Amino acid sequence: MENSPVALRLSTLFLRTLREDPVDAEVDSHKLLLRAGYIRRAAPGIYTWLPLGLRVLRKVENIVREEMNAIGAQEVQFPALLPKEPYEQTNRWLEYGDGLFRLQDRKGADYLLAPTHEEMFTLLVKDLYSSYKDLPLSLYQIQNKYRDEARPRAGLLRGREFIMKDSYSFDIDDAGLEASYQAHRGAYLRIFERLGLEIIPVAATAGAMGGSRSEEFLHPVAIGEDTFVRSAGGYAANVEAVTTVVPEDIDFSNAPAARVIDTPDTPTIDTLVAAANQLAPRAEGEWTAADTLKNVVLAIDLPTGERQIVVVALPGDREVDLKRIEANIGVHLAIGGEVGVEAAGEADLKKNPGLIKGYIGPGLSLDAAVLGAEASTKLLFLVDPRVVSGTSWITGANEDGKHVFGLVAGRDFTWDGTIEAAQVRAGDPAPDGSGPLEAARGIEMGHIFALGRKYAEALDLKVLDQNGKLAVVTMGSYGVGVTRAVAALAESNHDDKGLIWPSNVAPADVHVVAVGRGEEIFGAAAQLTADLEAAGLEVIYDDRPKVSPGVKFGDAELIGVPTILAVGRGLVDGVVEIKNRATGVAENVAVAEAVQYILDNR
Ligand code: ATP
Ligand code: MG
Repeated sequence: MENSPVALRLSTLFLRTLREDPVDAEVDSHKLLLRAGYIRRAAPGIYTWLPLGLRVLRKVENIVREEMNAIGAQEVQFPALLPKEPYEQTNRWLEYGDGLFRLQDRKGADYLLAPTHEEMFTLLVKDLYSSYKDLPLSLYQIQNKYRDEARPRAGLLRGREFIMKDSYSFDIDDAGLEASYQAHRGAYLRIFERLGLEIIPVAATAGAMGGSRSEEFLHPVAIGEDTFVRSAGGYAANVEAVTTVVPEDIDFSNAPAARVIDTPDTPTIDTLVAAANQLAPRAEGEWTAADTLKNVVLAIDLPTGERQIVVVALPGDREVDLKRIEANIGVHLAIGGEVGVEAAGEADLKKNPGLIKGYIGPGLSLDAAVLGAEASTKLLFLVDPRVVSGTSWITGANEDGKHVFGLVAGRDFTWDGTIEAAQVRAGDPAPDGSGPLEAARGIEMGHIFALGRKYAEALDLKVLDQNGKLAVVTMGSYGVGVTRAVAALAESNHDDKGLIWPSNVAPADVHVVAVGRGEEIFGAAAQLTADLEAAGLEVIYDDRPKVSPGVKFGDAELIGVPTILAVGRGLVDGVVEIKNRATGVAENVAVAEAVQYILDNR
C-alpha cells in the first residue's frame, strides 16, 4: 500500500456528509467533524473514526511519533485492559474514584480500563532493568485511554475513550530527570508547531500525579475549559497553579486589643461591612469587604470513606475557588491524589454545632470533624496566604450575631497551614513580578510532569547505582491528547462553510471536482487526479456522475482539503480552476500547468 496513494473517489468513499448541524453538538469542531463525515458517535464520549477522519488521526499520530523518536524515546504498546493490583499498590484504584472504568472477569477478578499507564511502565522497567547503566530510558505508546468523565463534552475534546500519546522517562538522578523533562518539553513544542496549533506552555499543579514540577500546553481558544492567566512580561500559569504574592508580616506590638461587638443579622459580608461602618466606624475612611476575614466551611470525602471538614479563611472581598483548593489541599490531608472539595451542607453544620453559619471565625476547636468516623479529629483550619502575621481582621466570633474586630493574625489566632484558596483576579500581580495578570481560556493539549520517585517507590523500582547500592529511579510522565488534537485543529481551522485543514494533517492535498456532465470533463479530471498522485500528492476525487456542482462544491468546502481543483466549463479553453480553501483565492490555470501550480503553491 505504501508509496502508491490511491485517490479517494467520492462515488465509492464510505462517506455521508450532513446538511444540518447535529442537534447534540455544541462546539464548531464537533459539528463539523460530524457533518463532514470524519467521525460518528458510538456512545456518549465514544466515537467511531470514518475513513477521512482516520487519515487525519494517523497524520497527527505520525507527527507525534516522529518527534518522540527524535528524542530517542522508544515505542511500546500496553493493553488497555489491566489488572487492579498495580493500581492498588499506588492507591489509584481508589483515588481515581468514579473516573475509573472498573470491570471483572468471569472468575470475579477486578480489572480496569487504563486511564493512564504510570504503573505498567514502571513495572515493565523493573521487570527488565537492574542497573544505572541501562538509564536514561524513555518509553512511549500511542494508545486508547478510558476515563468515565463526569461531563463528556464537545465531541473528541473530552471523550470517555480517547487516544493519548503517553511517555515515561527513567533516570538515576535529578539532573537526569531534568534533562529528560527538557527533551520532552522541546519535543512537545515541535509537535504543536508542526501541527500548526498555537500553544502556550503554562505552569501547572501536579494534581493526581504528585511530583514536583509540571507544565501544561494550552491551545488558547474561547471554548477551552482551562482558565489560565498571563502577564505582559511572559508569566503564564493555569489558575490552579498561580501563587499569591505574600505580603510582609506586620509588627503588631501596638495593635489595639480585639473586641467582640454585637452585630445582629449580619450573616453576609455585605451586611457585616454595613454594620461595621455603623457600629464601629473606622478612624479613617470606611471598612470594606477587604477588611473582613471570611471563613468558608468545606467538606471532603476522603478515599478512606471518611468526611473531612476544613475551614478556609480568606479576605472577604475574594471568592473561593474550589478547583484551586482541590489542586492544593493534598499536602494538608497527607494523601497523594486529587480529591473533590465541596461546600459543607446543612447536615455537616448540624453535626458540628460549633460552626455557626454566618458567624464563623478563627479559633474553632471542634471534635468529630471527620463525620461518620468513630475517632474524633481536630478540624483543619487553613488560611489564604494574604493572612500573614500582624494582619488585623473583622471576622466571626463563633457566637450567633457577634463579630470580633481587630483580631490579629499570629497574636489572636493561629492556623494549620496556608492554601491557595481565593479566585485569581485580572489585575492581580504575577508571582514573578512580571506585571498584572490577565485571564484567558484554553484547551489542554499536553501535560508534562517531573514525577520524581513516587511511583518508583510505590512499585519498588530500584537499580544498582554507581556505587553498587540500590537506588530508587526517578521518573517523568508526559501526555499528548491525540484525538483531542484533531478536535482542536478543527476548532481553530474552519469557517462557516466547513473545515480548513493545515496541510500537514489534511486528509488529502487536493480535492478534484468534476463539474458538469461531459465525458471530456470526467476524463480530464481523472487524468489530473492520476498526474497529481504521480507527483506525490494525495487526492480526493469527486467523480460522482449525477451530483450537482453546488453539492460538490459544498462538500469540498465542508471537507476542507487545502486545494480545490475544479474541472468544468473552462476545459474547452484549456483551463481548470484552482482554489485555495483557506484564502478563498481562485485562479484559472492551464491544464498542462495545473500540477506544477499546485506543487508551487502548497
Ligand atoms: P483534563 O484536565 O482536560 O481533564 P487531564 O489533566 O486529566 O485533562 P492528563 O492526565 O494530563 O489529562 O492527560 C494528558 C493529555 O490527555 C491531556 O493533556 C489531554 O490532551 C488528553 N486528555 C485527557 N483527558 C482527555 C479526554 N477526556 N478526552 C480527550 N483527551 C483527553
Ligand atoms: Mg493534565
